[in-house]
This record gives sequence, structure tokens and C-alpha cells, in this order.
Amino acid sequence: KSAPAALGVAKDDTGVPGRVRVAVRLRPRNAEERVADADFPDCVELQPEVKRLKLRKNNWDSDTYEFDELLTEFASQKRVYEVVAKPVVESVLDGYNGTVMAYGQTGTGKTYTLGQLGEEDTAARGIMVRAMEDILADVSLETNSVSMSYLQLYMETIQDLLNPTNDNISIVEDPKSGDVSLPGATLVEIRNQQSFVDLLRLGEAHRFAANTKLNAESSRSHAILMVHGKLVIVDLAGSERIDKSGSEGHTLEEAKSINLSLSALGKCINALAENSAHVPVRDSKLTRLLRDSFGGTARTSLVITIGPSPRHRGETASTIMFGQRAMKVENMLKLKEE
Ligand code: ADP
Repeated sequence: KSAPAALGVAKDDTGVPGRVRVAVRLRPRNAEERVADADFPDCVELQPEVKRLKLRKNNWDSDTYEFDELLTEFASQKRVYEVVAKPVVESVLDGYNGTVMAYGQTGTGKTYTLGQLGEEDTAARGIMVRAMEDILADVSLETNSVSMSYLQLYMETIQDLLNPTNDNISIVEDPKSGDVSLPGATLVEIRNQQSFVDLLRLGEAHRFAANTKLNAESSRSHAILMVHGKLVIVDLAGSERIDKSGSEGHTLEEAKSINLSLSALGKCINALAENSAHVPVRDSKLTRLLRDSFGGTARTSLVITIGPSPRHRGETASTIMFGQRAMKVENMLKLKEE
């Protein structure tokens, strides 16, 4: 499909110019939490009918936040896809840029939500696999080609998950249009759904091997799937704070570098939410890469993943605040102007 002739700001179903849509997904309690926290209620309560989330302050009080969608621990992977990603995939098929991102503390279900292959249990398939199914159902491979790149961003270095020898890919910006590209990244044509799933699995294996070699914590890296240069799906690094003292075995410099892209994303979202004149997109590789997807004709969907444990209330609260600020981002047109 070619891009629509008249390029305007993409409108969502309510006619609002491409505001970032923010959904919250609550992970069910795991076995450990069911036992250890048995006597304590969840730190949040989701009210999907009224699109509200209550964050418990103490036994009596809670704060209430509004989101576009609330996905409880009972929400199926299918429902999550339909709410979070399907509208983005549909506008990509109409020729717009689309981005789906998952943000949250490690262990809250970002990878489950986006990257689950679901080969044994098809109901468990995540957003990447379902998105490609919808794309392949719409695009005729006889007349069109669909291709992908799969990357990892760790400590401000971009690694090619489809070819591990490409371990330092640079971002190239077109001086005129400001469009970014990754000429060094492997671009593989997708022949069918199975070949896509195989590539995702290969990418995961390379990611695991690369991180083992680097002694890197994979929760601290971002995984970026780019389909056709149009659809970008980003499994962000864990949002939990890194200990600045380096107790995770890092020097202060490393700790800063590990955090850089995610904090730069937060700063850009704050600047956009506040309609600030300066949006610091150039501060990190992640924000430089996402700048393209955040143009005026882009549709962006963010899924905030949280866990129910009262022990993680602090991290959950800061994740919710990130989502609240993202709700205020009217559109990302500003990123182009900067
Ligand atoms: P993250 O990517 O945020 O670190 P994961 O996706 O790895 O988190 O999830 C942590 C664990 O919780 C995994 O074992 C995953 O299968 C499980 N999990 C996450 N979300 C759900 C869910 N909605 N339903 C069932 N299990 C889940």
C-alpha cells in the first residue's frame, strides 16, 4: 500500500489528532506473590468500565488515575492486542507510521505482552506475532514485500539481533527531512508467518548470547522490532531505578549510560506533555530512533505494565506517573520541529 495522498495529522476514532494512547495492563499474581503477599491486598485496583485505576495509599485511601484502557489480570492476549496494537496496525496498513511501546518494571509482563511467540499455546501469542498476522492477511506478498529489522539497544550501542557480528549500528539522519535510518541493520524479507516467528526466535537467541557475552542484564536493554520502517514495536528496558552506587556491578559511568535512553524518553515525554519549546530528542539513541515514528502522521500506543504486589508499590506508582504524563502528549509533531 502506498501512503495516502493527503497527509494530515492522523485522527483516532474520536477525531482527536494522534494523541498517544495509554493502556495499563496488570499482571496476575505469581506463585511467590500469592504466598508471600497472601495477607495483603493488591496495590492497585482496576476499574475498566470507567477507565480508572486506583492506587492504594494506605488501608483507607487511594489515588485515582484515568487511562485510555485498563487491562485487568484476566485480560487475554487477544484482547490486549485488540486494544493496544490493532488500531496502530490498521493505520500502518493505511500508510501511516505506527509505534507500540511497553514500559514498566522488570517482571511485570512487557515481553509477555509484546514478544510471546505462543507456538505451543496459540492463545498466548503476543502483540508482535498478532500484528504480523494482520499485516500478512492484508498485504499481498506477490505484489508487495514486508521486511523487518530486529535490534537491541544497550548502553547506547545498537546491536543487530538478526546478525550478531553487526554490533555497533549507527543512526543516520537525513539532513533535509530529518528522517532517521539504520543503513547497517539487516533487513530480512518476511515470506510467511512462520518465517517471521523463526526470525523473532533467532533474534531472541542472539540477544541472549550477546548479553551473556557482555555480562549484560537483558532487562536493561531495549528490544526494537521494525517492520517495513513503518511499524516499530519497542520492548523498553525495565523502568526500575538502577542503583547509582553501582551495586549491580557497574561503575557510575556505566550506570548513567544504561539509564540514558530510558530517561531521555521520559524527558521527551515530559517536554511534549508540557508543550515545551524544546524537546530533547537528540539526547539518546532511543529518542533519535523513535523521532521518526513520532511524526505528525504517526499513531503511538503505550502499554504500561504493572504488578499487583504491595511490595512494589513505589515502582508501580512511578510507572503510573510515567503513563499519566504520556496521556498528555497531544501529538508528536513537535519532535519534527524541535
Ligand atoms: P518483563 O518483560 O516486564 O520483565 P515478563 O514478560 O518477562 O516481564 O514477565 C515476567 C513473568 O510473568 C513471565 O514468567 C511471564 O510469563 C509472566 N507474565 C507476565 N504477564 C503475564 C500475564 N498477563 N499472564 C500470565 N503470566 C504473565
